[in-house]
Amino acid sequence: MNILYNSTRGSNKAVSASEAIIRGIAEDGGLFVPEKIPTLKYSLDALMKMDYQELAYSIMSHFLTDFTEQELRACVNSAYDQKFDTPLIAPVKQSGETYFLELYHGPTLAFKDMALTVLPYLLKTAAKKLAIDKEIVILTATSGDTGKAALEGFADVEGTKIVVYFPEYGVSQIQKQQMVTQEGKNTHVIGIEGNFDDAQNGVKRMFTDSELLSTLDKKGLMFSSANSINIGRLIPQVVYYFHAYFEVCRKENKAPGDAINFTVPTGNFGNILAGYYAKNMGLPIKTLICASNENKVLYDFIQTGIYDRKRDFVITMSPSMDILISSNLERLLYAISGDDASVVDKLMKELTGAGQYTIDDKMKKELAQFYGGYAKEEETAGAIKKVYEESSYLIDTHTAVAYSVYEQYKKATGDNTSTVIVSTASPYKFTTDVMKSLDPKYNTLGDFELIHKMAALTDGVIPAAIKDLESRPRLHKTICKTSDMQLELEKFLK
Ligand SMILES: *Cc1c(COP(=O)(O)O)cnc(C)c1O
Repeated sequence: MNILYNSTRGSNKAVSASEAIIRGIAEDGGLFVPEKIPTLKYSLDALMKMDYQELAYSIMSHFLTDFTEQELRACVNSAYDQKFDTPLIAPVKQSGETYFLELYHGPTLAFKDMALTVLPYLLKTAAKKLAIDKEIVILTATSGDTGKAALEGFADVEGTKIVVYFPEYGVSQIQKQQMVTQEGKNTHVIGIEGNFDDAQNGVKRMFTDSELLSTLDKKGLMFSSANSINIGRLIPQVVYYFHAYFEVCRKENKAPGDAINFTVPTGNFGNILAGYYAKNMGLPIKTLICASNENKVLYDFIQTGIYDRKRDFVITMSPSMDILISSNLERLLYAISGDDASVVDKLMKELTGAGQYTIDDKMKKELAQFYGGYAKEEETAGAIKKVYEESSYLIDTHTAVAYSVYEQYKKATGDNTSTVIVSTASPYKFTTDVMKSLDPKYNTLGDFELIHKMAALTDGVIPAAIKDLESRPRLHKTICKTSDMQLELEKFLK
């Protein structure tokens, strides 16, 4: 079946998967969504026999229907290779009664690698299919992890340039050092004096600024996005929900069929939305547990049906979830409104204008498929300590938010269904916060000093991606005001 992509706000005509990937965002400011979520064309038993690459091809082929088998297999095989430090790509570890899906074995140690290792190939293939002769400028806002993963994926990819905006004072030392030391002639990294929402809003504005777009066009350039607003980010993420499900079946010596839960540490709602797509394709998922940090706008939304971004932005130790405008939620609103773009358009206008919106009772009922919880900072720290003390297993701050919310969920519901905690980053990316959660004595040491101390607590293996990171020279030094984001872009493109 051929799947086309609609804008969540409705005024675009449906486009092919290739076109949706190239454009990143629809012209009306909406996000591209498949006109219907495809149902599985293989049995779970058949899918369970596949390795990660084969599974990735099989799942993604449901969505990217205008890619040939050869094209899509080439993309997948180029992405999921020795860049990952384990042939399993996304191993599932069992600690006590809980499963952890480790999505951080790629080149930048966070789950963004799961999609951003393949996106450059999808984008290049799509450009070729559409006979696009323009140079593609990837514009990316990051709360820390997307930036590095995108830079790594696109560095020196012919026919592309990549520009990353990050909150100068809102990422970990290691995240920042990873980005500002990025090599590659086509890369540009800019720190902004603002938070992630400011970066994301700035990028979204440039994407739909018709004057800027026509200037670019004249120069032979066009924008695309590596953020999770790009459907090419979302689709590869559906794969690991299947993979994790089958890993749990294998560990429990069960044939596929019984439903399990996933707990997902959430910011922009991209990761958990991929789980929702997997469920709608036919993967047996009981509850999707949406875990927030103290920026608990999603928790409040799930409780009340009111989305309200008018609140103070909190800087937490899970910075990749410090988000108040959760952009992929727009795709969920589209789904739970019964694919009604006029509803989404109205809600999004209210969000931009009044800073809040309320969904109706019918949508609220659909939303109840999600359980929402949030972790306070001390609960996040407590979760890191508890898991380590119980099983010598170290989790990062984002994963700890999920673990803490899962504990709350179990207490509140008594549900004992097997549950996978989606582990989104390596603890080595957030050494200071992880180590001081274990013992306040580490408080005085920096991220880099703590790398070796962390290794001593675990298996002693420091991931290659950060081994010599501290001594690499800073290659990107630009810091700008939020209002100067476009100016900096124009300087780079000149
Ligand atoms: C990006 C990120 C998240 C949040 O993912 P969303 O798709 O934005 O919900 C959580 N944890 C880590 C480590 C991340 O990098």
